[in-house]
Amino acid sequence: MLTQLISVEPATGAILWQGEAGDADAAVANARQAWPTWAALPLTKRIEAVRRYSNRIRTQSEQLSELIARETGKPIWESRTEVEAVINKIDISVRAYAERTAQRQLPSQPNMRAAMRHKPHGVLAVLGPYNFPAHLPNGHIVPALIAGNVVVFKPSEKTPAVGAFLVDAFSKSGLPDGVVNILQGGPDVGKALTANDDIDGVLFTGSAQTGVALNRQFASRPDKILALEMGGNNPIIVWDTDDIHSAAVLVVQSAFLSAGQRCSAASRMIVKDELYDRVVKEVKRIADRLIIDEPFSKPAPFMGPVIDNEVADGLTESFLALMTHGGRPIKHMARPLDERPFLTPGIIDVTDMEERPDIELFGPILQVIRVPDFESAIAEANNTRYGLSAALIGGSAKQYDQFWSNSRAGIVNWNKMTVGASSEAPFGGIGLSGNHRPSAFYAADYCAYPVVSMEAEQTRASIGIGLKDED
Ligand code: NAD
Repeated sequence: MLTQLISVEPATGAILWQGEAGDADAAVANARQAWPTWAALPLTKRIEAVRRYSNRIRTQSEQLSELIARETGKPIWESRTEVEAVINKIDISVRAYAERTAQRQLPSQPNMRAAMRHKPHGVLAVLGPYNFPAHLPNGHIVPALIAGNVVVFKPSEKTPAVGAFLVDAFSKSGLPDGVVNILQGGPDVGKALTANDDIDGVLFTGSAQTGVALNRQFASRPDKILALEMGGNNPIIVWDTDDIHSAAVLVVQSAFLSAGQRCSAASRMIVKDELYDRVVKEVKRIADRLIIDEPFSKPAPFMGPVIDNEVADGLTESFLALMTHGGRPIKHMARPLDERPFLTPGIIDVTDMEERPDIELFGPILQVIRVPDFESAIAEANNTRYGLSAALIGGSAKQYDQFWSNSRAGIVNWNKMTVGASSEAPFGGIGLSGNHRPSAFYAADYCAYPVVSMEAEQTRASIGIGLKDED
């Protein structure tokens, strides 16, 4: 059990933050106490409170960007885009609440009203991942608060400093004590939190392994809301195009942005036989040019390290395992500094592997599969238990229609990256990628439940049929 947390900057090895693991039961009790008052506030007051929070983040945006860059190792330019997403989430969530869960008058008979309104669940546990330590938990917390829930937020044990920063910003924005509670700790603390019967639900972003464990844990608890945003094993198909360079750029961005640590990153490039040599050559040529360096270095890096040495070791072992099971390396994955988790992108042809592992390799590894025809390309794209994002690069409009109809994923793009989804849209997947409770714009849906009421001013009723005459 992790009782003492230490957050180390992946790029430098410097200690960034340390602190004690928290007490889940105390955090839930604190939240429970705050809930009735928060839920009873008028919606406008709750919106005002989250707007104060976003204003505070805006004034501290450079500080938060630097903290994200240091704690995750991602380049400062990318961390700034994450902070932008945090700020933009407030207006988007206000709009989403109005569009998805606002109160509505329904058609009804004379002398009565029929209304639909939404109510909050109560105390929600938010479990965050390390790859977007601010944007993704924020994407659960803000809609949850607007809807009238209170939150116990457990950041990833790998990014406690960013988690603490967010919760501090909430409390300094005048949110009442107990409305957003920080709970630091690792999986054990997460387990203690989700085992507490006084929570009303869990909003989770993380790996399929943890998500499936949570799904099992809550199998006999239909009374708790469970929103699972999990990983992917995402395909990108490269088909006929007269711009091989742009196709390769889209592949490289999809596979290697954030050092491949995006749930929507492309893990598998599926390429038409005749284009194989040209596409692979160009992808490799661009990947060879990527600058991999510390977040603040100049010239600006394309990507930084992965989150820690253990993850880097796991990824290099996975690359070797693909090789020993029949994969043919196109570009070896290297570890330029033994003691730090920088990795160069690895590209490997797995076409001839007898059994390809259908697992998420959460890092800069691109597997390549060559196929003879478009039907085989779609079959390969769907050859996974996951279903988060998928893209077709090139091909005709007709082929895109076919791909769109037959591909199994929550995001299906054409001539665009697999990554970089808009917060204005729902974000989620099928299969092992989610439990049909998409986040982003649709987060409003899992933060409140509908209550339908028939209402009349007077108590007036009669039975018109099936009554005996009175004596
Ligand atoms: P993880 O599953 O290891 O951890 C996520 C969170 O759950 C952490 O806070 C962790 O402490 C906690 N946790 C772990 N085991 C637990 C348990 N048994 N009970 C309760 N809590 C537990 O995920 P990670 O490695 O931090 O994040 C990377 C993963 O997140 C990748 O798989 C990535 O694809 C996924 N992800 C998904 C999305 C999405 O929106 N679908 C977005 C970003 C990342």
